[in-house]
Amino acid sequence: MFDLTALNTFALPATAQRLLRLQSCADAQAFVARRGREAALIVGGGSNLLLTGAAIELVLKVEIRGRRKVSEDAAAVIVEAGAGENWHDFVRWTLTQGWPGLENLSLIPGTVGAAPIQNIGAYGLEVSERIEALDAMDLGTGELRQFDAAACRFSYRDSVFKHAPGRWLVTAVRFRLPRRWQPLTHYGDIERELGAQGIAAPTPRQISDAIIAIRRRKLPDPAVLGSAGSFFKNPVVDQAACAGLLARYPALPHYPQADGREKLAAGWLIEQCGWRGQRRGAAGCYDKQALVLVNHGGATGAEVLALADAIRADVRAKFDLELEIEPVVV
Ligand code: NAP
Repeated sequence: MFDLTALNTFALPATAQRLLRLQSCADAQAFVARRGREAALIVGGGSNLLLTGAAIELVLKVEIRGRRKVSEDAAAVIVEAGAGENWHDFVRWTLTQGWPGLENLSLIPGTVGAAPIQNIGAYGLEVSERIEALDAMDLGTGELRQFDAAACRFSYRDSVFKHAPGRWLVTAVRFRLPRRWQPLTHYGDIERELGAQGIAAPTPRQISDAIIAIRRRKLPDPAVLGSAGSFFKNPVVDQAACAGLLARYPALPHYPQADGREKLAAGWLIEQCGWRGQRRGAAGCYDKQALVLVNHGGATGAEVLALADAIRADVRAKFDLELEIEPVVV
């Protein structure tokens, strides 16, 4: 039996019968060649997982390392990283190399290989906007396939891989970092942070540093307080629904989307229901950001799900909106 508590940032208790560390594509191929019928759970940094305690047969821990420049031309630098590289270390390394473009995604927990699975996003940038292609192994056949960005079918915190759990094992990701860099600072928190430091024309590293400072203030450090980051997706509604809600709640934060719909801030909705800082047993709604559920120590996955259900029921009753859970529930 293998204890998975330290392998998920929520620090939820769970065990697996076996854990296999994959450090190369050859390791993954060897696993496919001799695998039995057991179901495998693929884990990178374990930062987007909600383990409910169900029996897990096999965990594949992806530890494929390596980062390099693949090519460059007048328009962009193409950079590749192994799926097991730590995401934030990789972002900082690209900045050190003089290849900006990922700075808005600084300090997101997890690995490079997990980033495309849920299409991580923060402060106005989704990783899909920087992905050129990725390599993934079909764990059914051992075939290593290249997916370009279109084939990944990215959308808000979603990709083709999230819909086929256990099938595709991402081994490496290639990023297109444009040479004509443009700062993305329109999210209010970034503007305020840079303004407070008197920075009018920020460098990529200054944006990264500002985001690190904001995240350290607003989000729990998984080493101290277990969590999986944002627990719910922001609901996206049509104009009529948004107008109806605004008539009742004029302060409702809403952001127009390219498709004409409006994105609502799930954290605000939860806060209006009085959940910020509340606890149910050892599971809680984080006091500095209601979108984040936390493990105050000793919580089980079932407890976290019960808290999530109570929050969703209140948001449904008050706003007639369905909140969708962001982490992968196992
Ligand atoms: P916030 O500033 O409290 O804003 C609440 C929500 O409003 C955000 O989720 C964001 O949506 C949206 N928003 C705010 N300003 C916006 C703008 N100028 N244009 C469009 N949408 C805007 O958010 P926060 O909780 O501190 O998070 C800041 C950023 O980090 C967000 O982008 C958030 O998604 C990201 N984040 C992600 C995770 C994760 O686990 N996935 C965890 C923490 C933070 P969006 O979420 O669509 O950006």
